[in-house]
Parts: sequence; C-alpha cells; structure tokens
Amino acid sequence: TDFTDLGLSDQLTQAARKAGMAKPTPIQQQGIPPLLAGRDVLLPGQTGTGKTAAFVLPALQKLASIKQEETADSVPRVLILEPTRDLAMQTASVCRQLGRQLPLRTRVICGGVPREQQALSLAQGADIIVATHGRLLDFVEKGELSLEHIVYLVLDEADRLLDEEFSASMTALVPYIADRPQTIFCSATLPEPVMALAKRVTRDPVRVEP
Ligand code: AMP
Repeated sequence: TDFTDLGLSDQLTQAARKAGMAKPTPIQQQGIPPLLAGRDVLLPGQTGTGKTAAFVLPALQKLASIKQEETADSVPRVLILEPTRDLAMQTASVCRQLGRQLPLRTRVICGGVPREQQALSLAQGADIIVATHGRLLDFVEKGELSLEHIVYLVLDEADRLLDEEFSASMTALVPYIADRPQTIFCSATLPEPVMALAKRVTRDPVRVEP
C-alpha cells in the first residue's frame, strides 16, 4: 500500500515522500480513507505512530479541492487545537512541510508569543490555524478571527485537554465554530472522561485501532 492507494493525490503523496514518508503507517492506512471520505475519526494518537500526518494530509487535500472550486480569499477552514505551544509549533511545521506545493497559509495562535505579531500574520490571511485554546478564544471573542468557515477540526492529544479551563474554552468557542465541521479526535488513551468528550464533539466516528 502507498499513499495514492489510500486516495491521496499524487502531489501530496510526493510531498509525503519528500518528508521521508514513503509508506503509510498502520494508523495512516486506517485513518486516511475515512478522513478523505469526510467521516469523523477517533485516532489513537501515540507519538511516533504518524498520527500528525494522518490528520494533516487529508486536511490539505480537502483544502486543495476547496481552493480549486472557489476563487475564495483565504479564510480559516482548518482548525487544529493543541495542548501546548510546542506541539502547536510542531504541528504547524508539519502542515507547512507537507503543504509546501499548495498556496496555503498556516498560522499559529498561542500564548507566550507577542499577540500583535499573531494579529498581523492573521491579517495577511490564513487557511490553517494551529492553536492553543486560551489565546484562540481571545482572538475569536474580540472579533479578530472568524471560525465560521471551519470545515475540519482536530483535537490533538485530547486526553491532555481535559482540564476545566479547556472545557470552559470549548463551551465558549463552539458557538463561533461553523456548524458541525468534520472532526478528528486524537488521544493516546480513551478512558471514560475522554470518551465523554469524544462523544460530545464527534458524530458517528470511525474508530482507528492502534
Ligand atoms: P507523529 O506520530 O505524528 O508524532 O510522527 C512521528 C514521526 O514519524 C515524525 O517524525 C514523522 O515525520 C514520522 N512519520 C510519520 N509518518 C511516517 C511514514 N509514513 N513513514 C515514515 N515516517 C513517518
């Protein structure tokens, strides 16, 4: 099996190969086809399994096809939530690397970085937002970032997003996010409270086995 057998475009297959991903990992083999078909997916996200590319490659393919259809300006259509700034930076760099051939802009919105800088980069257009929830909510509530066109939402390392603060942010963010985007829920483990969150945010998800 290679990435094209999973339904990925030649262009993205090539980008993956250039990034050292010649053959899909088991999680990618199971996760990419339902993601390309528009399904919600529960991804068992141990680090080192290739889960980041598993959710980034279908996001890029979806964006590429939207961009082809519309001569739309760049509005954020993909939102990836991360528990920490470091993870947000890492995931953003995977988006940039794999999406290098596409006219896409990836922006990181997180605390610990000057806000003005992030506001300026957002003003120049954004297709993919990789964020931590606190700073994201700040931008959204102040009307500086619209999430109404989000079609693909990722909760990465969701088992680390389970504190009360995150729960409050999610409750506040939901009304701002487009109605029911395709949702990917990544978690290394799925104990009861994590499953409860998964059930709250996904609809009839395909469950990928580790
Ligand atoms: P992750 O599990 O997303 O943290 O990825 C762990 C590492 O595996 C990263 O350095 C990726 O570049 C690498 N990786 C992801 N998918 C593949 C693949 N299909 N083949 C080889 N390496 C991969």
